[in-house]
Amino acid sequence: MKKCTFQLMFILISAFFLNLQAQSNWCGISAEDAQALTNYHLQVREDMRDFVKERNAVTYVPVRFHLVAKSDGTGRPTERLGLQALCLLNAAYADHDIQFYLKEFKNLNSTSVSTNPESFSGFNAIKSAMVYNAINVFIVDQIADPGVAAYWQGPPGPNGNDWIVASDNFVTTDNVLAHEVGHFFSLLHTFNGWESSGGWDPNVHGNPVGPNSPGNVPNEYVNGSNCTNAGDFICDTPADYMFGPDNTCVYSSNAKDPTGAALAPDVSNRMNYFYNCTDYHFSNQQITQINNSLFHSTRNYVRPGITPTLDIVSGSPALTKPAQLEKVDTYNYVELEWTAVPGANKYLVEISNSNIGNLRFIVNDNTMVVTNLLENQSYLWRVMAFNEYSTCGNYSTQKIFKTGAIFTDTAEIPNREKWTIAPNPVRSGQPILINLESDGMETDVSLFSMTGQLVHKVANYRFPGGISTLELPTDRLPAGIYIVALRTAGGVQTQRVAVTN
Ligand SMILES: [Zn+2]
Repeated sequence: MKKCTFQLMFILISAFFLNLQAQSNWCGISAEDAQALTNYHLQVREDMRDFVKERNAVTYVPVRFHLVAKSDGTGRPTERLGLQALCLLNAAYADHDIQFYLKEFKNLNSTSVSTNPESFSGFNAIKSAMVYNAINVFIVDQIADPGVAAYWQGPPGPNGNDWIVASDNFVTTDNVLAHEVGHFFSLLHTFNGWESSGGWDPNVHGNPVGPNSPGNVPNEYVNGSNCTNAGDFICDTPADYMFGPDNTCVYSSNAKDPTGAALAPDVSNRMNYFYNCTDYHFSNQQITQINNSLFHSTRNYVRPGITPTLDIVSGSPALTKPAQLEKVDTYNYVELEWTAVPGANKYLVEISNSNIGNLRFIVNDNTMVVTNLLENQSYLWRVMAFNEYSTCGNYSTQKIFKTGAIFTDTAEIPNREKWTIAPNPVRSGQPILINLESDGMETDVSLFSMTGQLVHKVANYRFPGGISTLELPTDRLPAGIYIVALRTAGGVQTQRVAVTN
């Protein structure tokens, strides 16, 4: 099967003088590409003819976002784009008993994929990054064809090239990902056969049009009498000969079908190319076809039968620590804290300034520690709450903190003698023993991963008299380096501990 590329092409014509921005696009699909997807569409229709989907049963489909940076790691799209795109995708399919959840974010470093995913090297890098247990969406800096917003590759299935690529400029535009997922689930454009035409033009294509489209697909009649074998092969989408790209969501042509009947295309159909519509939708038969593809054997791999957490996360956290403009003395140990948001089990934390750029972390708690900041600088930070299914939240209000010049390992807590960790390294499952001579001070003892995730905390602990020992469990901790931090009213001290398997 030949490569099947659906390209949603946008050209941005910025008319700055008029202070408006017109957006136009068309699809760069070749006749061969359209034929490959047509074959899949018809195969699904045939194979699933007798399939009846269980009513009111929601199918949850995992999505993996590959955040593609250049080979040197720069220019990576943010996790936030994936979360927003997932939010729009769920809204688009909410009425159709299909919902999507975040499988994971993966980072891919490849200049080819970032700037030219359709190139030979880009294609191969994507192919080797594929994991066939979710829909894989690659968010890239740009698709080399001028202004292409997104495409589904194909052919479908785990032995195919079953991925979606979207440009970071468009992945959160309403209907872009929903449209590509429509292709993923075997839908053709409502104007199938007209992609290469640049749009219907009476001077080129005639009015009435002839029997076949420029791509040699029979033109669908307005009365639908040939609908099963013409156009998009879907009978409840009206005849359409590609009247987009259009930004007004209004059809203003006067095209006639081969019998002379006037067209009335469905401009806000999700498989059309009209923009800024407020009532995007799939037709009932498109929904049936999507479900037939979802339950077709080519798509077993996106139906793991898992129901994600369904709690709805609404609202944003409030940043509580450090306080606004607070200076944290220890630049290599900055504890961040924010209010927990109901339903959230993940937080996207963003810290930025002009020297470090944009650092981002995903943690499971409403606290973390950052160990890789620079001394004597100001930082902006903000946090977004979400879970794998509910990703529509907004960032918190942004705040600022400053770092000092103290390196924590040398920071002294007044009146506290040396303390030790043993054993180090420690085998996962064995406790970490913290030994210190008691000084009666109340101490918060925390264990953090190197990515700042709080693993374990003993709050307000008072070491008993004499030399005493506190055990920190390491149950099921993956091997790696961790940070043990002791905080008192007088300051914080840290030591590193290695956990082995
Ligand atoms: Zn398309």
